[in-house]
Amino acid sequence: MKTVWEKYTELDMSNCFTFNDGYKKYISDCKTERECVWESERIAKENGFKDLKDLIKSNTKLKAGDKVYATNMDKNICLFVIGTKPLENGMNILGAHIDSPRLDLKQKPLYEDNGLVLFDTHYYGGVKKYQWVATPMALHGVVFKKDGTRVVINIGEKDSDPVVGISDLLIHLSGDQMAKTGAKVVEGEDLNVLIGSIPTKGEEKDAVKHAILAMFKEQYNIEEDDFISAEIEVVPAGAARDYGLDRSMVVGYGHDDRVCAYTSLKAIIDAKDIERTSVCILVDKEEVGSMGGSGMQSKFFENTVAELLALTSDYSELVLRRIFQNSKMLSSDVSAGFDPNYPSVNEMKNTAFLGKGICFNKYTGSRGKGGCNDANPEFIAQLRDVMDNSDVQFQTSELGRVDQGGGGTIAYILANMNMEVIDAGIAVQNMHAPWEVVSKGDVYEAYRGYVAFLEKIK
Ligand code: MN
Ligand code: MN
Repeated sequence: MKTVWEKYTELDMSNCFTFNDGYKKYISDCKTERECVWESERIAKENGFKDLKDLIKSNTKLKAGDKVYATNMDKNICLFVIGTKPLENGMNILGAHIDSPRLDLKQKPLYEDNGLVLFDTHYYGGVKKYQWVATPMALHGVVFKKDGTRVVINIGEKDSDPVVGISDLLIHLSGDQMAKTGAKVVEGEDLNVLIGSIPTKGEEKDAVKHAILAMFKEQYNIEEDDFISAEIEVVPAGAARDYGLDRSMVVGYGHDDRVCAYTSLKAIIDAKDIERTSVCILVDKEEVGSMGGSGMQSKFFENTVAELLALTSDYSELVLRRIFQNSKMLSSDVSAGFDPNYPSVNEMKNTAFLGKGICFNKYTGSRGKGGCNDANPEFIAQLRDVMDNSDVQFQTSELGRVDQGGGGTIAYILANMNMEVIDAGIAVQNMHAPWEVVSKGDVYEAYRGYVAFLEKIK
């Protein structure tokens, strides 16, 4: 199978690169789930989406073509475009996650050790810990003071900003360290972020910590105790960039899964003549099991669709159940892209390649497909037809050779509501590393595939 580059005209190339410029900006600006929600909400409003809360308050009835959105805990957002067919006929749903692997500050993070001040962290998601040291990092997050005031933290992205980071042991003294297995080379409790070294003059004890706290007080009006009610994420500093001398790829932090979030968001905005109500769900907590209020397992989505139903026709629990049962979904998440440096983990007939288009995974899981959502061939046949008719290039893959490893997505959670679901996404190199790589062609084909899904799946 050829890559998308061989079929693209000059105009396609230009559209593809322009689309990726928007994407690079999105992932450069949005490095936490909250930042993704804020920016997605801004983009939604700019494109005529109305806040569902306001419509509920004014009991404004919805009709075909209306665009609405709902946010949840500032960490997840759902967008809807009401179709011409009744909701009961089912919805076409795009779902992606906006949380990415990173290091979270602990609740009591701050300490001084021999004249250096550090933040203690707890890693989030599946990471190779040794990848997160000796590289510039930024701090993104929120602090809530007791009176409810929210303080937004974003340090390390502007050229004039300082950055922080985690040290690694010098090679000269690494005899013991180099003999350890990869999992133990850098251990979780050693992921401490160096943030300062100038003491307050005349201060006896913890003088550097004293000075850092004075800086936080002056610049953000927060005290040490305020970190108890904070969520600050330590993430790779700097913007996403073109990758490869031909600029065919993008290197950035958080492609998993903001690359599917952005393409899904753009697809619901751009899809035309919607028959079945279109939905785009951007959720949190996928990397840690989709639990909690802002994860896919939350009641939020179900509750929101119930509200939507009440504003489009007479509410009935039975109709609500039919809506889910008749819906179809692309669980949009990244796939493992073939890596010429590590070919042995793949079985080549069923491997995703950078540049060969949007990737469908019939199943994920591990061992004997354990924990997977196994998409129905009836649904896959329908998708093949729609993708081919829309000239969208797609590929299919598994996550590595049988018994090599495995993983999961949010697919099974919506499938549990009895709807057709398949994993569909974009191949990534270096998945879960601080800097991941995708092909611009795949980003653009995924977007085109999502538009085709929303417009054409019956
Ligand atoms: Mn993912
Ligand atoms: Mn992941």
